[in-house]
Amino acid sequence: MTITESLTLMLALLYAASQLWWAGKHYGAVVALASIVGALAIAASTTLLLGTVVAAGGLAVFHWRKPTWAKGEVRINQLRDGFQHLLFLALLLVALQYTLNTIMLKAGMTPWLARPNVVDAFLPIAGGIELKGISAGIWDQNHPAAAVMLAVVLLTGLICKRAFCGWACPIGLVGEKLYKLRKRFIKEELMPPRWLDWPLRMLKYLLLAAFIYLVCFSMPDAAIPGYLNGNYHKIADVKMALFFITPGLITLSVFALLLLIVTWRRQGFCRYLCPYGAILGLLSFISPLKIRRNSEHCLIESRGMKCDKCTRACPANIIVHTKTTVRSDECQACMRCVAACPKKQALGFGVSKSHSLSARTVMLLTLSLLFVLPLAAYLSGFWDSQTPELIRMQLIQMANHIGH
Ligand code: SF4
Ligand code: SF4
Repeated sequence: MTITESLTLMLALLYAASQLWWAGKHYGAVVALASIVGALAIAASTTLLLGTVVAAGGLAVFHWRKPTWAKGEVRINQLRDGFQHLLFLALLLVALQYTLNTIMLKAGMTPWLARPNVVDAFLPIAGGIELKGISAGIWDQNHPAAAVMLAVVLLTGLICKRAFCGWACPIGLVGEKLYKLRKRFIKEELMPPRWLDWPLRMLKYLLLAAFIYLVCFSMPDAAIPGYLNGNYHKIADVKMALFFITPGLITLSVFALLLLIVTWRRQGFCRYLCPYGAILGLLSFISPLKIRRNSEHCLIESRGMKCDKCTRACPANIIVHTKTTVRSDECQACMRCVAACPKKQALGFGVSKSHSLSARTVMLLTLSLLFVLPLAAYLSGFWDSQTPELIRMQLIQMANHIGH
């Protein structure tokens, strides 16, 4: 595990432990801290220890300065935005480290910066093939983090709906920024008509079906070891990076279309095209956590007032104020509707209308799901790529000639 990964991981876990402590859950905080210490002892890694020390120092400074997001009461939208921006920043550092590592390998130098394995999260098809391989007893050694990160994202969908989309996804964040930029110049909401919205939403399920076909049906179990040990898979991350940094005309046209969609429609990519959004949307039907409206407290039923603030706040255009439970596959558990509701206890995200989670709990749950499994995978030796650096260096030189 590299220093960027170690720092992000330990920052997340120590922050979670500190939040448990501040929330009065001292037993939970002690268990979390003991687990971190145990993990450090098992890993015996200088990088992980360094990441822990720096993270602990950083958190101590934040608690000392007492910014609202670190301690005490904080608004839902502020908390979610802060969390998403911090994750995005961590990802930028990872991208920088990965780029430097690859440039050095391409130049034939021994890199002084290690390759962050978390970049394998951008190899969902490889991750799917690896998970299929694991079910047949085949464990990939080249990009194990791809399988781990795919499992992590799926797990978040099962447990806390599309909270990954609403709280963590970097693409969703970029889309939101581009949409807001467009709104500064063109104020109107350019919504597609209802009859067109539904078929467009189904596009992401078609893409998901194509991915599932590629992973589950196009490759028989017997072919998996050959694929996982092949040269293409060994540098699948580099092939993916090359696809983005040296785009052809068709790729550029697709990028332009995507840009148009995310600026035209809020969450346009998530809503219409993202296959991750599709699979998380399907899993979200099983998730016990849902947005629930309590009519005993809602202004509509309890006071006979007209109110639709929750609906107007929803970026996914879900009609919240007439439902008791939001089951929509488009709900990203962002809790903007809860933040907009003027009546406490009228709206919440939880397993029942009387048991709602606070925004901080949703954040800690998402944080734990995102980081605990990668830590466990690292401790069990299924995180770091075992592809020798020399092999990677040689393959990168001929990356353009390596195909499936
Ligand atoms: S219903 Fe609420 S939590 Fe779901 S997407 Fe809309 S605003 Fe976010
Ligand atoms: S914003 Fe709150 S009070 Fe208003 S309709 Fe929605 S749930 Fe009811």
